[in-house]
Amino acid sequence: MTQMMRAARLHAVGEPMVIDEVPRPTASGTDVIVGVKGCGMVPNLANVLANWETWYPHMPLPPRPAIFGLDPVGVVREVGEQVVNVRVGDRVYVNPGRSCGACHECASGVPQQCDYWTLGGYFGYNERSVDMQLRYPYGGFCEYMLAPQTAIVPLPENLEFRQATRMGYLGTAYAAVKKLGPLAGKTIIVNGATGTLGVGVTMLALAMGAARVFAVARGVRLLERLRALAPERIHVFSNVDGGTAAWVRSLTDARGADAMIDTLGAVASLESMRDAMCGVRRGGRIVNIGGTAGELGVDVKWWMDEQMELIGSVWFTSAEAIELSRMIGSGAVDMSVLEPRSWPFEQINDAISGVTSGDGGFTSYVVEIDAESRRS
Ligand SMILES: [Zn+2]
Repeated sequence: MTQMMRAARLHAVGEPMVIDEVPRPTASGTDVIVGVKGCGMVPNLANVLANWETWYPHMPLPPRPAIFGLDPVGVVREVGEQVVNVRVGDRVYVNPGRSCGACHECASGVPQQCDYWTLGGYFGYNERSVDMQLRYPYGGFCEYMLAPQTAIVPLPENLEFRQATRMGYLGTAYAAVKKLGPLAGKTIIVNGATGTLGVGVTMLALAMGAARVFAVARGVRLLERLRALAPERIHVFSNVDGGTAAWVRSLTDARGADAMIDTLGAVASLESMRDAMCGVRRGGRIVNIGGTAGELGVDVKWWMDEQMELIGSVWFTSAEAIELSRMIGSGAVDMSVLEPRSWPFEQINDAISGVTSGDGGFTSYVVEIDAESRRS
């Protein structure tokens, strides 16, 4: 007899999610089944559900009815017969990045550049993404999800499940910080520093040796909270009060910072990004991981003359997630500064609309899911 499970599904854009009973997947080949304990609630999900297909028609949402949920954590419950290095009972994060696994880019360790690259339980990056969404139609908002073994990231013992649902945002921040190269003794501007990505970038830049972080956002209250993480190394600035570039140059003998990471949200002004970019020194490196869109108006002569490096970064690899997991396990990254706020699975629609606590990137939003406790 087919075993069933609960899954929150979106049947049509504009409708609330419905918790349906659907067949529980089983593992074969190189796939595994993870019993989900919780799944991160992306602050951007309501926006994606409402607007994505209008704003970015080339970036498909999964076919409906769809199981969303970007950042699942749980316990491995089944492994396919070809699985070698993942065991039943392992506590894991499931990297939602899906790719073909067989092309040059996948084999080179940059699956984000694969033609099939997709964020499972969220959206795809091109039309071939639909193939991956059909093969792996399980985001984290269900009791048991199917995932390829290459997506499995072991969690350290000191990381509880609710905190671990932050791995997606932190991994994205980590991959961006890595692209800056060795940070020892360097200075970095973080634009949008108090948001979900910005807090992670700040934590990781410090962990990886940055001498000084120039943290830029709007609200002073959250900036002060961020500065308290390392008052000697973090300088904060509200760009409501003036220009970021001038502020950074005033702190660096007019030279500018070595690097910058932009994390602005979907509806932010690009003026703030352009201004912050002008605070980066000649030959500096600028990475964008934010959700904003539009024409930036970069002066290409500045780009060449100043030898600037402009880099786009999407998500992260499972290898990077494993590195991050180990840094958390060793204490190099302290997750206790983040505060999970959770909803039970039954209240998933409240969670989607309830992710505005006012504490910016210090809060992690989690939907708690646990089939075992429900049935015991
Ligand atoms: Zn590929």
